Amino acid sequence: MKSRRPYIGRFAPSPTGPLHAGSLVAALASWLDARAHGGRWLIRIEDIDGPRCPPGTDRLILDQLSRCGLFPDEPPLWQSTREARYAQALQHLQDTGWVYGCACSRKQISEALAARGRLSERHGELVYPGTCRTGLPEGQAARAWRLRSTADQAQTQDLTLRWQDRRLGAQEQNLSQEVGDFVLKRADGLWAYQLAVVVDDAEQGISDIVRGEDLADNTPRQIRLQQLLGLPLPRYLHTPLVLGQDGQKLSKQNGAAALDLGQPEQALGQAAAMLGLRIEGHSVAEQLAQAVTAWRERMLA
Ligand code: GLU
Repeated sequence: MKSRRPYIGRFAPSPTGPLHAGSLVAALASWLDARAHGGRWLIRIEDIDGPRCPPGTDRLILDQLSRCGLFPDEPPLWQSTREARYAQALQHLQDTGWVYGCACSRKQISEALAARGRLSERHGELVYPGTCRTGLPEGQAARAWRLRSTADQAQTQDLTLRWQDRRLGAQEQNLSQEVGDFVLKRADGLWAYQLAVVVDDAEQGISDIVRGEDLADNTPRQIRLQQLLGLPLPRYLHTPLVLGQDGQKLSKQNGAAALDLGQPEQALGQAAAMLGLRIEGHSVAEQLAQAVTAWRERMLA
């Protein structure tokens, strides 16, 4: 039997706001899975989108996690310190012909799509019509950098990616049609989440990614980058989302309440219940110990 690499998991919050009930579920699940496997658990602060990260929110999140007994096995890593590594990865993809410069504005992209009678949006992102694929228009400079989403660099064959999610089961996505050529470095100079997450997961030796289901459909983009950068492929487990009263997923954007730091036991009990774990302990330490046992019985049986 092929031996697996040592288990290393992580929680990777974007410090755009404090943790809420939904993000605690992802944090707890990633911690439980690491502990149940006898592995290590790391925290990475995904603060590449500086303008969206209010100062001090990273510390607040770390404090919230520690009140819930979730301590990382190494000091956290801040993505804002890692730009040089993202630039190296982008350079490699440029050198190998998988990335091209794009001069299009959002308006030009929607006009080009409308002219073809297609205006498919994916989470507010338009599927790129391919205008700059074969070179920049005369006299225009690259604003953003995009990855070719096809199986070949000449962009003649669609690429369908398949993977196995530990909770959702067999998954597949036609990357070329459903996502299109996606941005790795944005026109405003910011690094895209897709590139940063892949570079950092590899460098931190992450073997297992456990995160919220809202991120599941980013997975094929990340697998593609892992393939093209020659990086190991982690296993994936996407956890259930916590829905608000309006039936929408809880998010910082829709004003989900920050966790009540005064009541970590209550917050932990609710997060565990979302994961289908019944825990009755009175202290955080007791709750966590019960949750690890319950997780191990359920997920590793
Ligand atoms: N930083 C991302 C977020 O907070 C999560 C990244 C990940 O777990 O891959 O939504």
